[in-house]
Amino acid sequence: MRKKYDYCIYIGRFQPFHLGHLQTVRIALEEASELIIVIGSHRTAPNIKNPWTSSQREQMIRLTLKDEPELLERIHFAPVRDQLYSDNLWVADIQQKVLAIAGDESAIAIIGHRKDESSYYLDSFPQWSYIETGNYRDIHSTDIRAAYLSRAPEASYYDKLPVGVQVSLSTFQSEARFAELCAEYDFIQQNKKAWSVAPYPPTFVTVDAVVVQSGHVLIVRRKSRYGSGLYALPGGFVDQDETLLEGMLRELKEETGLKVPMPVLRGSIVDSHVFDNPSRSLRGRTITHAYFIQLKAGKLPPVKGGDDADKALWMSLADLYIHEDLFFEDHFAIVLHFVSRV
Ligand code: NAD
Repeated sequence: MRKKYDYCIYIGRFQPFHLGHLQTVRIALEEASELIIVIGSHRTAPNIKNPWTSSQREQMIRLTLKDEPELLERIHFAPVRDQLYSDNLWVADIQQKVLAIAGDESAIAIIGHRKDESSYYLDSFPQWSYIETGNYRDIHSTDIRAAYLSRAPEASYYDKLPVGVQVSLSTFQSEARFAELCAEYDFIQQNKKAWSVAPYPPTFVTVDAVVVQSGHVLIVRRKSRYGSGLYALPGGFVDQDETLLEGMLRELKEETGLKVPMPVLRGSIVDSHVFDNPSRSLRGRTITHAYFIQLKAGKLPPVKGGDDADKALWMSLADLYIHEDLFFEDHFAIVLHFVSRV
């Protein structure tokens, strides 16, 4: 029988895919001939909010439906990157991916559940009908991740997961990345607890340096527990007795040992910008002031990791794109903000 819609669009992070998501997939396939699952936060570095890559998440969904090939063959997967500082770019990416699969003459509906303010994006596609699914058993991925990463008994969350996802989560426990994420989870919980006695939730101020020379960006590799091993911009928290500019130059010298005289560094600052997306850091509300330092073309000055960085390196812009999914917080987006202008 002909379905009401040609395509349903289902956007989500699916970290992990749970029985509430599965229920929506089933409703979507009742309503439409085909389903496009938009897997969000594609190429985000693994962290406690996004532990699994988009291909691992697609695999979880495929495993869940492996005994129902007639459903699986009606599903398309479209991984989509976050654009933390431009909802328009994010919407445009989804529009393009849907157009490429569905063409421009199909009857399309977006399906989802307006669970809270974070569901605002469901209103960004007025050209499509909307199907509200309602809430299924009050299941939340956040609770499942909390139980999983705090090593709670499986019985406390397995009843919220399809069997295929239970298997995937169990397999992932033997990977080194799982232990790192558990350590990061504990660290963030302790950090939150330490700040819980403050009279107001804290807002942290940080600074970052985006130093570019001859098609290369100065990058460090983090060694602190939070985001350990990820690439980041040199930077950190501002001290009580320094200006933002002084803090940025201090962190830059401490973390990279950059052999460029201070007056040259100061004179090479060509731009600065505040990055303030409320969800940019999992440690808590953190606003960063980034400075763009464009050095004259020539031989790259020597650098050496120090302080919170176990390594400092000049990364070519080509490598920057290749390693997008190894960048801490929004640092990849910060670099792109500046290098796309000059
Ligand atoms: P999610 O996996 O939490 O939820 C996906 C969908 O399932 C939502 O509609 C949600 O309401 C629904 N759902 C969850 N639990 C349910 C339950 N128990 N019963 C019924 N429905 C349930 O994913 P999400 O965080 O909403 O995904 C949004 C994605 O879009 C993210 O990747 C986010 O980063 C991305 N996004 C990006 C931008 C940008 O980059 N500018 C803007 C908005 C959203």
